[in-house]
Amino acid sequence: MTDDMQNSDRQMYQGDWKCSECGASITELPFQPDPDREDTLLCKDCHRKKRQARGGDRQDNRGERRMFSGNWTCAKCGASITELPFNPTNTDNLLCRDCHRASREA
Ligand SMILES: [Zn+2]
Ligand SMILES: [Zn+2]
Repeated sequence: MTDDMQNSDRQMYQGDWKCSECGASITELPFQPDPDREDTLLCKDCHRKKRQARGGDRQDNRGERRMFSGNWTCAKCGASITELPFNPTNTDNLLCRDCHRASREA
């Protein structure tokens, strides 16, 4: 028989902070606060209130870039282009990555 206490697997950091909103003392946080941001910490209650005020979870789809696949030819060097970060409307003057970079640096 095992009567080990099942500890939650979430690591908590102990400390002595203050809620920037209501001034309640915070002794435990699920993350290690940045010393520069200690005056922006929120207690559990204020944190929850703030999240609800913002309308729950927001979906963030930054960092996901859509790529378009195709079969194009570079207008400058004739290399084949199979992927572009945009859907080209005019395929006559497309540039491959190398030529594109060269034209930008020129
Ligand atoms: Zn608070
Ligand atoms: Zn090229």
